[in-house]
Amino acid sequence: MNEQLKNLIELQKVDLKIIDLDNLIGEIPSKMATAELPLNESRKAFQEGKEKLESLEKKKRNSERELDEIAEKVRKLKARTAEIKTNKEYQALLTEIESVEKEQGGIEDTILFIMEEMENASQQGKAEEARFKAEKEKIDTIKQQFETEKTAFEQELSHFKSLRTGIAQTIDKELYEEYIDLIGIHRGHAVTEALGEICQGCNMNIPPQLFVELKKNEDIFHCPQCRRILYYKNSQ
Ligand SMILES: [Zn+2]
Repeated sequence: MNEQLKNLIELQKVDLKIIDLDNLIGEIPSKMATAELPLNESRKAFQEGKEKLESLEKKKRNSERELDEIAEKVRKLKARTAEIKTNKEYQALLTEIESVEKEQGGIEDTILFIMEEMENASQQGKAEEARFKAEKEKIDTIKQQFETEKTAFEQELSHFKSLRTGIAQTIDKELYEEYIDLIGIHRGHAVTEALGEICQGCNMNIPPQLFVELKKNEDIFHCPQCRRILYYKNSQ
């Protein structure tokens, strides 16, 4: 076989491998992002639970402040009983005290209700946290696997790249430039097999006379349709 053709075939093989590895490495970040999606949801639920608890704590503090104020009001009203002169005034004061105490009872109920809600939110929060942690552990393992995969691909890639440098040096400059042009035009496929008088790059028929010539693999021939460099693979 023509030495240049043999090297071109080899270069093509290596270049396809490089393209393949580049693609595999390029896919890893989006694969990782997809793997992380459930974690984002679980993180969000965990975060929302925390926020809910904080807002309930704030509500409780406000109600407790209200309760303090109202207790002070009751205390002041009760202190006034000593100054009361008439029965009518006394009745009016009692009614007022009663009304304020009723309000106080209402606030106490509210606080109890908030505390109950806080208890629920806290339990739910713990469950969300546990779920988030378990999910994270699982995803960290998956990410680790992707990292390992990526390192292996990169090592392989660097091996093929150095191999490529060696092969590229053996090819005549003009032919190499032509090869690079074809790589660009045909998205990575510059050298292709002529199988059964058909170019495997563009699926067009190869003229019989050309096929007879290229079958010898003694020269560089191009497909008349797509310009790819053709070779013939002997099945024996
Ligand atoms: Zn072709």
